[in-house]
Amino acid sequence: MENMPDKKFPLSKDSLEALARRFPTPFYLYDEQAIRANARAINAAFSCFDGFFEHFAVKATPNPAILRILRDEGFGADCSSLMELMLAERAGITGEKVMFTSNETPQAEFRKAAAAGAVINLDDITQLDTLEKALGALSALLSFRYNPGARKLGNAIIGNPLEAKYGLTHEQLFDAFKTARQRGTRRFALHTMVASNELDINYHIETAKLLFQTALEIKSELDIELEFINLGGGVGIPYKPEQNPIAWTALAEGVRRQFDSILVPAGLGNIKLRAEWGRAITGPYGYLISRAIAKKNIYKNYIGLDACMADLMRPALYGAYHHITVAGKEDAPPAETYDVVGGLCENNDKFAIDRRLPAIKTGETDGDLLVIHDAGAHGRAMGFNYNGKLRCGEILLRPSGEAVQIRRPETPEDYFATLI
Ligand SMILES: *Cc1c(COP(=O)(O)O)cnc(C)c1O
Repeated sequence: MENMPDKKFPLSKDSLEALARRFPTPFYLYDEQAIRANARAINAAFSCFDGFFEHFAVKATPNPAILRILRDEGFGADCSSLMELMLAERAGITGEKVMFTSNETPQAEFRKAAAAGAVINLDDITQLDTLEKALGALSALLSFRYNPGARKLGNAIIGNPLEAKYGLTHEQLFDAFKTARQRGTRRFALHTMVASNELDINYHIETAKLLFQTALEIKSELDIELEFINLGGGVGIPYKPEQNPIAWTALAEGVRRQFDSILVPAGLGNIKLRAEWGRAITGPYGYLISRAIAKKNIYKNYIGLDACMADLMRPALYGAYHHITVAGKEDAPPAETYDVVGGLCENNDKFAIDRRLPAIKTGETDGDLLVIHDAGAHGRAMGFNYNGKLRCGEILLRPSGEAVQIRRPETPEDYFATLI
């Protein structure tokens, strides 16, 4: 791995130092140009599907400035809570461009989703009653989240569908469509989400195939023709330098082949394709920037950052790998082995364990700046306040090179604001 080319970062050390003088570390930095290029590549790859539509999973990067960029590129939003619906609204993403995929949903959230005109995607057959109570009647358009159970093998993060809390069983799915039609729903859609961070395109193509076959069964058993099929999220990103990014064109072509062999011959070629990827949209284009402020040599060698797992939880939560580079030392030999840690009173507050890195200079003002890569999705979003840590801010690097703050860091006043 030491011979691997390092991951890209859009700023030189000098530019990053200048930025860190304007905005104290730690902070997240998002590369707008790269996010836009990625969105365009995805839309181009899937242009083989007439009316293809991506609902960006808001939970991945819940900042309206990011959502507006994606809206601009033609994406909608996938929301699963009241606040996420409000974030989409703030970003000007409205109506059926919003998909509401929640679980254990309070009635008030269904009312908000309906008021926003969002596509409601039910997670359970009992939600038909909850929704009817909330709205007085079922919505004209309804989607259902399918849990294929043993019909589909799971992946590492979401796990085996039989053990996953989400979705309706195969039998319930058919009951739900039938019941919804009896109670007035006229437009129908099908959804699933069976994987997370999956880089194997064949896995996603197999998921599409399963959904297409299910659409066929729904047509033949219930005479219901789906309006669209939502492939869900779950496309992975190459966190490790030796991994390769998903080949969007190959994925789209693979899904298209299934579509052409299953749906088109059955006269169901009008069904539209949707997706709700989050990680793969913004993940590689966001970075957590932090300064190395302390060094400690005991039984192991530690580098202490001014960021901690309250800013980026994935390594502690999943043992996830996040690549780290040292600004200005991208080509320096990885001469040292460090645990790179934050300051929480939690021994799993470690961004990297036994990581080979160039010798790192530490200091509150003159320490090296570390770039933690692939933090653009499920990064700042998972932040928390344990140990009284204040969550960091977010900076957007515009295509012009201008950097703007799109979320300020939290202050003690924010922390005290909810205390009575
Ligand atoms: C988390 C989630 C997504 C996005 O998942 P990614 O792995 O970020 O692509 C999409 N849909 C639902 C319902 C989710 O829970």
